[in-house]
Amino acid sequence: MDWLKGLNPEQQKAVKHNFGPLLILAGAGSGKTTVLVSRTGRLISERVAKANEICVLTFTNKAARELKHRVGAKLGNTGKGLWAGTFHSFGLQILRRFHKHANLSPYFGIVDQSDCNSILKDLIKDIKNSGKDKFDVDKILTMINDRRTGLAVQTEGFDEYHEMVEVLTPKFAKRLEHLGVVDFEGLLIKPLQLFKENPDILEKVQASFSQVMVDEFQDTNRMQMDLIAQLIASHRNITVVGDDDQSIYGWRGAEVKNILNFPQEYKGCEVIKLERNYRSSAEILAVANAAISKNKNRHGKILRAEIAQSTGELPELFLLEREEDECEFVMSEILHWQRQGYKYKDFAVLYRSNTQGGLIEASLRRANIPYNISGGTSIFDRREIKDLMAYLKQALAPNEVSLRRIINVPTRGIGDTTIEKLSEFALKKRINFVDACRFWKEAEVQEKAGESIDQLMKFIEDLPTNILDFQVGSSPGAKMVEIFQNIGYREYVYGTAADPTSAEKKWMVVEILGRILDSYLGRRSYDVENIKSFVDSMLLRDDMSDEEEEPNKVQLMTLHASKGLEFPLVILAGLEEDLLPHKNLGSDIDEERRLFYVGVTRAKKKLVMSRCQQRKKNGVVRPVAPSRFLLEIPTELYKEFPLGARPVTGQEREDLVASFLSKLDSKLPPPKKTF
Ligand code: ATP
Ligand code: MG
Repeated sequence: MDWLKGLNPEQQKAVKHNFGPLLILAGAGSGKTTVLVSRTGRLISERVAKANEICVLTFTNKAARELKHRVGAKLGNTGKGLWAGTFHSFGLQILRRFHKHANLSPYFGIVDQSDCNSILKDLIKDIKNSGKDKFDVDKILTMINDRRTGLAVQTEGFDEYHEMVEVLTPKFAKRLEHLGVVDFEGLLIKPLQLFKENPDILEKVQASFSQVMVDEFQDTNRMQMDLIAQLIASHRNITVVGDDDQSIYGWRGAEVKNILNFPQEYKGCEVIKLERNYRSSAEILAVANAAISKNKNRHGKILRAEIAQSTGELPELFLLEREEDECEFVMSEILHWQRQGYKYKDFAVLYRSNTQGGLIEASLRRANIPYNISGGTSIFDRREIKDLMAYLKQALAPNEVSLRRIINVPTRGIGDTTIEKLSEFALKKRINFVDACRFWKEAEVQEKAGESIDQLMKFIEDLPTNILDFQVGSSPGAKMVEIFQNIGYREYVYGTAADPTSAEKKWMVVEILGRILDSYLGRRSYDVENIKSFVDSMLLRDDMSDEEEEPNKVQLMTLHASKGLEFPLVILAGLEEDLLPHKNLGSDIDEERRLFYVGVTRAKKKLVMSRCQQRKKNGVVRPVAPSRFLLEIPTELYKEFPLGARPVTGQEREDLVASFLSKLDSKLPPPKKTF
């Protein structure tokens, strides 16, 4: 198996590396991820390590799947057992395997941010005189997490938020423990604790992986660093790849010094720099390099890939009047280039904020252009999915958070008074809410509501087996949809929607979840264990489309979500002050500039940029200035279209006239026959 074929000498050197620490520090598109894939494959084919002794930590689950797919395609069965995934899925796997030591049930649930918010709201309510409405719960959650992960910056002064956070942090951890659930931060915190308290477990885990690799290393935070350090302490076979110019998660605690200090931290570390960019045209690269060169705190890595193929086409910048015009522009650009032979999947539309994404999405939908949104607002944030997931979570790992969510959804006569009674009873008897529901009689809940509770509990208990009990010709997903329809969830959705069209869309979401479940179970055995792993992966926000081939759809995503990806044609929208750089960011302009650099370097052949002259902010349309990042690029490096439109070419004009005439023809009455 030739894993070195087509690689340049530096890449080959990295792929041939066997033992000890290795750092690959290189610019965007220089083949870092490619090297990780080839190295993984070579280690297995040359029996340096077995597939199941290799652990590759990637930035997204999608990247992990692709890596496994690429290695598997060449190695077949020999490649089976390779572990690739995100830090969070790694943590989850450790906690599942050693759940007893971590004080968790084998089926512990995972709670997401909205669950954490409602837990916090409850806790705040319980604190006397807390003035519960005056706190921004999102802010409190961020502050608590910063404390738990050791990120909290010591600020001077001690305001009411700090006071609240001090009280809430231990309470929050206790409540999660009591509920038997783990939140996202916990997926990193708990394994670290586990390793610290149980050296024998750590030894076991260390022994199971003889090679560890990390992609996008510039965005690791302190806890992730700790986890890596623990994992490799006994053998030091660690390969990390990254680019300090692409570190864009400082706001979430990523520390770029992790990559820069790596050689000092791991003595004897081999350092390889890759100097050639294989992704972007020379013209696109020139814009990227001009932008990033303005960053003050660069770390002396002078290996910007300078050699690249020229296409002779400069990146383009379009100036639009209003944001609606920009959305129309994005749509017409896609149609324009599609006529020139590009496929929908060749396009990515990148933007800074999710609000922009929503507007662009609407205009693509109007034009019937198929698209896919990743990162940010996704289908998994929809209320309907959250409801159904709460049922599944409750069935597999009973917990208060999901039970409270669904206890009266769809409406089943369990009102606020009943819930209040049950909560009080739970508090008095020092039992949890789930158990309190089982003893509703003692809690003096009315007979009718109590019977509803019994029915609900039975329904939940039977749910997984009922889903799997589908007729020939049907599927678990279809059965699940049917079950929820039967308990009145469809009626509930229609009853709570503003109009029939939006109700239909909401119900569609339920059906899509059914399809997602089927595609997940499709390659696995139909058992409760796999429904459980389905719920886990949904909660980790995995991109569930298990499809091997990319669907032919335009990709819409935030700049943050685009890291590591590449597309023939990239549209970078909203290059304005306050948007990119973002206004909420405060001081770190350099990180925003790196974000711009990440966006530009996703493009292979074409880069189309746009900005508006006005944009709506807090409901008011205001004039906006061009992004300072645009002003920093020498104007000769791109072509500007101040009128916002691409001049129509001769051929296109002819096509347009022809299509106009043909439409006109069909509207005219047929010519009369004359003899
Ligand atoms: P990023 O920093 O954006 O994650 P990267 O350094 O991981 O980029 P890759 O995604 O591995 O870069 O590679 C970029 C592109 O270059 C891919 O399309 C890859 O197939 C191609 N490529 C990598 N190495 C070579 C090579 N030696 N010859 C030809 N193409 C290559
Ligand atoms: Mg990469």
